[in-house]
Amino acid sequence: MKPSLIVHGGAWDIPDEAVDACKAGCERALAAGWSILTQSGSALDAVQAAVIVLEDDPAFDAGFGSHLTLDGHVECDAIVMDGTTLRAGSVAALRRIRNPIRLARHVLENCPHMMLVADGAERFAADQGLELCPPDNLIADAERDAWLKCRNSKHAAAHHRGHEQGTVGAVALDSHGRLFAATSTGGTCCKLPGRVGDSPLIGCGCYADAEVGGVSCTGYGEAIMKVVLAKTTADFLRRPVGTDPNLSPSILPKPATPDVASLAAREAVSVLAKRTHATGGLILLDRKGNPGFAFNTPRMAYAYVADGKFIVGI
Ligand code: ASP
Repeated sequence: MKPSLIVHGGAWDIPDEAVDACKAGCERALAAGWSILTQSGSALDAVQAAVIVLEDDPAFDAGFGSHLTLDGHVECDAIVMDGTTLRAGSVAALRRIRNPIRLARHVLENCPHMMLVADGAERFAADQGLELCPPDNLIADAERDAWLKCRNSKHAAAHHRGHEQGTVGAVALDSHGRLFAATSTGGTCCKLPGRVGDSPLIGCGCYADAEVGGVSCTGYGEAIMKVVLAKTTADFLRRPVGTDPNLSPSILPKPATPDVASLAAREAVSVLAKRTHATGGLILLDRKGNPGFAFNTPRMAYAYVADGKFIVGI
């Protein structure tokens, strides 16, 4: 089977001055995952490697450089899902884990449960031999400055360099036919401590089913949860767009290449827009590895491989 990989760095109002950093970060993430897949490595290793690059990059809202809560802490959420077994490893409200996706994988592989949060998740991390860092080590200067501005007046996107969101994600299909999807986030800026959005929730911020495809979402979590966006997208892959007479047509423009993957992505974001009036985006691979993406935000950073070439967009 031909391997395939797609990554994203969040759908939001990416300001012009952040475009290069977001594209470069997505390209590096794609390269990290792709070098694994081209050496017959596993899709699980590939999504983990790609997401780690994005978590370590303060241009994105995941791991180091995540948005801060109202109390001035980083609280991260992450998930990885196996399309073959439908099993996920999910973690939320982490304050001391530099790469939340690593812990999500430990939950996937070594835990009887599928989701752990806060102190319990960090205790599990320590038991698994993962390093816990001081919470302040996850705070980037730019995010601390943004938080101080919000605290001194009121929360405003302008204080956050124009952006509101910037979750990261990856979906990979390997040469053995295994499909994995992953999502990692610091959540929304100035969120209440303890708030968990869509990202680590199975079917909302992430979904993988080897029979149909894998999906990673980004955008306003409270809206994405309402329409269970990742699973909704997977359902569009199962029953291709146009086959359900009860569904009103998409309000998004037609993709340049109207293949099943692109149409499913567009239709799902259209459901988000129509039913919640919110913004967001998603990436996907269908079960054969065909990539698709859609967003109704001004921009979304993404990268995928087509015919061996890296396509990076925003
Ligand atoms: N969906 C994320 C959340 O609500 C934010 C994002 O995608 O940027 O936590």
